[in-house]
Amino acid sequence: MSEKFEVIVIGGGPGGYVAAIRAAQLGLKTACIDNYTGKDGKPSPGGTCLNVGCIPSKALLDSSKHFHHLQHEYGAHGISVKEAAIDVPQMIARKDGVVKKLTGGVSQLLKGNKVSFYHGKGRLGVDRSVQVTPADGGDVVSLQGDNIILASGSVPIEIPGVAFDGEFIVDNVGALDFDHVPETLGVIGAGVIGLELGSVWNRLGSKVILLEALPDFLALADKDISKQAAREFKKQGMDIRLGTMVKSASVENGKVNVTVEDAKGKGTHTFDRLLVSVGRKPYTDGLLGDDCGVRLTDSGQIEVNDQSQTSVAGVWAVGDCVRGPMLAHKASEEGIAVAELIAGKPAHIHFDTVPWVVYTDPEIAWVGKTEQELQAADVEYRTGSFPFAANGRALAGGHAAGMVKMLADTESDEILGVHIFGANASELISECVVAMEFQGSSEDLARIIHAHPTLSEAIHEAALHLDGRAIHRGN
Ligand code: FAD
Ligand code: AMP
Repeated sequence: MSEKFEVIVIGGGPGGYVAAIRAAQLGLKTACIDNYTGKDGKPSPGGTCLNVGCIPSKALLDSSKHFHHLQHEYGAHGISVKEAAIDVPQMIARKDGVVKKLTGGVSQLLKGNKVSFYHGKGRLGVDRSVQVTPADGGDVVSLQGDNIILASGSVPIEIPGVAFDGEFIVDNVGALDFDHVPETLGVIGAGVIGLELGSVWNRLGSKVILLEALPDFLALADKDISKQAAREFKKQGMDIRLGTMVKSASVENGKVNVTVEDAKGKGTHTFDRLLVSVGRKPYTDGLLGDDCGVRLTDSGQIEVNDQSQTSVAGVWAVGDCVRGPMLAHKASEEGIAVAELIAGKPAHIHFDTVPWVVYTDPEIAWVGKTEQELQAADVEYRTGSFPFAANGRALAGGHAAGMVKMLADTESDEILGVHIFGANASELISECVVAMEFQGSSEDLARIIHAHPTLSEAIHEAALHLDGRAIHRGN
């Protein structure tokens, strides 16, 4: 006999566990199946995000930022220490503690909301049946759902000729767990993950070289922002080699030899460790029974419509395993929307207002269109910008680098995009997301009172500048 549920969620990352909690809040009998096992051998719901993604990377970014500031920035404040030292195992243990606290919190939330949790691998069969193979090797459990939400996430892409070995050639999991600071670290791919994890080890003293195939740095970001960011990261000692395609890598005598091809021809690099961060791909291994009827796209994503419905009635999919940006908040919002649709409520996600953040120092954050996208789409727009070097709070805190750039429709003045490179950009962008979600204009932001002195005044000034009336800079 199969136990029956109104909703069965397969995958317990920010897409899956959030969908399960919302479904349970709406009174639906819900199960959540997740196979992630923590370092302590226990279930560890929270997916990539909590275990080996967003949260542990930010924990290490914060630790390494303190160390770096102690060595390079506190002197200006008149603060000095005789000798700064980094205890890598302690830093990693702190990070693991943060992960444990949060994944434990997810378990509690699932329990508190009366979601039945299964620690194991879920496989979808015909007519919304699900088989769970328990992680502890117990007997297979059969479940039956009125609705199934697939939230199986993603895994790192491996490059042919550059095989992960978990020690010298690693993915995000390995780079979050080095037991010492590698003298030299090669990073393949100067995308979000490569930049964040490259920053961590660069700040702790590694000589970091980023090898990026594309000729442009951070091609998804607005060009004014990516140009400033590239300059700033170079000053911090990050060596970013654009137009450099990695061809192969091999480990010899404890060193990684990497062959590359760039405009000058073939070359080689030798590193102590190599991080491969060339993107992620949807993970559906073992998820779909042969006869379940769920279709995949050519690129391996689970095919869904704009309401996250798959090709099978009652089967939904959210997060990294479907189209759209691979971001935790996008996964969670999709999960909530699907739970609400199942409960018969209206729900919709505005993909145009999903914020993007790169947690470098300074941070990069944006929402909406870049100037290049507007040009390509022949949209008439106006631009306003403001440098943090002219913002009192930024100067007081020693955060003079960066800028805010705002783009608005020439005719209607609706905000079409905001791009921030600067301290706390990850928090500052929220105001712009709200404004865009309400179809706000640059004039709306220009007329809203911003507290003084705050970094958010740079957003206010960029909005004023868009109309040629900035106060603290020339127009
Ligand atoms: P996942 O988080 O991958 O969760 C899927 C879960 O399902 C996993 O636990 C997996 O084990 C489980 N699973 C898969 N198949 C099955 C099955 N058949 N049965 C049972 N369980 C299964 N995003 C941000 O928004 N901000 C950030 O700062 C950020 N930083 C990141 C840093 C790094 C280093 C990495 C790698 C990613 C980062 N991301 C960030 C991306 C973010 O982690 C993902 O977008 C997010 O985790 C996707 O959520 P998800 O629920 O779709 O999938
Ligand atoms: P992201 O998708 O943000 O994680 O970025 C991954 C980056 O890796 C992209 O900018 C790709 O251009 C880059 N990349 C992919 N394959 C290679 C390769 N073989 N050599 C160097 N860079 C690569």
